[in-house]
Amino acid sequence: MTESSTGTVYLVGAGPGDPGLLTLRARELLRSVDAVLPDGLVSEEVLALIDGPELIPVSKRYGSTSTTQAEIDTLVINLARDGKSVCRLKGGDPMVFGRAGEEMRALSADGISYEIVPGVSSATAAAAYAGIPLTLRGVTAGFVCVTGHRASADDSPDTDWAALAKLKQTLVILMVATRIDPIAEALLDAGLAPTTPSAIVENASLPGQRTIISPLGDIAARSRVSGIRTPAVLIVGDAVAHSRDLQWVPIRPLAGQRVLLTTPPTATAELRSLLGAAGASVVALPTIQVEPLTDQAGFASTLKERLGESSWAVFASRSGVDAVFRTLNELNLDARAFGGFQIAALGTGTARALHAHGITPDLLPEKFVSESVVDALLQQLSADDRVLVFGAVGGRTVIRDRLIEAGIAVTRLDAYRTVPAPLPTDLLEYTLERPPDWVIFTSPSAVKSLFSALDRASISLPSATHLACIGPITTTAIEARGLTVSAIAEPHTYAGLVTALVNFAASGDNQSPESEPSSVQT
Ligand code: SAH
Repeated sequence: MTESSTGTVYLVGAGPGDPGLLTLRARELLRSVDAVLPDGLVSEEVLALIDGPELIPVSKRYGSTSTTQAEIDTLVINLARDGKSVCRLKGGDPMVFGRAGEEMRALSADGISYEIVPGVSSATAAAAYAGIPLTLRGVTAGFVCVTGHRASADDSPDTDWAALAKLKQTLVILMVATRIDPIAEALLDAGLAPTTPSAIVENASLPGQRTIISPLGDIAARSRVSGIRTPAVLIVGDAVAHSRDLQWVPIRPLAGQRVLLTTPPTATAELRSLLGAAGASVVALPTIQVEPLTDQAGFASTLKERLGESSWAVFASRSGVDAVFRTLNELNLDARAFGGFQIAALGTGTARALHAHGITPDLLPEKFVSESVVDALLQQLSADDRVLVFGAVGGRTVIRDRLIEAGIAVTRLDAYRTVPAPLPTDLLEYTLERPPDWVIFTSPSAVKSLFSALDRASISLPSATHLACIGPITTTAIEARGLTVSAIAEPHTYAGLVTALVNFAASGDNQSPESEPSSVQT
């Protein structure tokens, strides 16, 4: 193979989590490279921006078994040799505890060209998001960044805590979550006073960020009570005391809560952003996938036929809207095909999907359930109306059935189908390793898919995990399994779901240590 056909490898910093902290260069590469291999630290919010390139999971987090550094090096080199451009996406900055040095060596040894794209390191971002100036005139003239990870035989030398304690500079310690006790003890043994101001910042820049500010003597106990988990940074030094008036990240109602979404990937972005705005950290585990029909050609020709003879169209979901418009496109048609129609949408999400195609629904029921659409429709339909109802294969047929009962001419067309997503045991175990505070369901098929997969893997949901549903039909599917639903969306929308979770948190029923909100105490 000639050198010119070898791809370039980009070692790219993904920043601490908030996608707004990506560099323009990183953003561009997430669109233009052939493959992205993210490490386990890269936030879901950043991963959601990967648009086009193949995402190759090399961390347990993405359902693959853990891959060693040597295996990753080989994978990257082979991709580059095949002429692929590859982005190794690393949390924070690749040159700060990001093993970039090792990967650069391996690439150089194989004559593969690379580019480094620096990122915002959590070392500085954690301080920024906790309002802690790392340097402050008259207080501290510098800061030192070290790892809290214990060195192993073949690793770098152990940190000399006694030397650090003498520096009188701000100490920024990464990789601390499971080792705050021994690190605080080492610093106290090294001569720092128990009153030395210190802070722990968990999930800096992410919706679930938590900050604990406490004297060094108490920081380990405070962090234990709050259930601090990785990723977290410990900051120690007099500058921390000056953050008291400098807190600028708002404390949000779901801060510290972890929410597992079971929705298909198409629905994840909107829920993620609503939940994120309320302070929850979101983990997506799509349990169902929307797939085209097995007889798409048959659907297309029936659709074309029925369009000519109907006066009302009822859309029950955004997936239905997407499928119908994709099919219209295949038929060289567009929104004008519904020109003479009255249109009903089951909920605001469906209405928004129609808006995207230039259609404002004529009817949006008060409650976003099929029964409510029928009630509203029956008030508007006349005897000679013909109704087209778009649904999913195997979905509820309430709208069609009740319209038939009322003597209305109705055709139901299945526009798409949903299938259970593969949920390997590894992925389930990894996702539930840290129990989520909530699991959210927006359809009975997601309930079925998740619980069947859990049964197959002989895993049960952690007892502290609460279940939330979008509406009564999904709730019934859960209750049929003998489980309790703690929150039901009212109204039955994504925004209603978030409100239900916030109300539950405010009611005080959910006071596990895990969900202690972001707190500041000096
Ligand atoms: N290259 C990364 C560091 C990798 S080591 C960087 O420059 O940030 C992994 C450690 O980074 C974690 O254990 C934690 O200490 C820290 N870290 C990364 N992202 C973080 C975040 N959003 N909030 C708090 N700490 C974070």
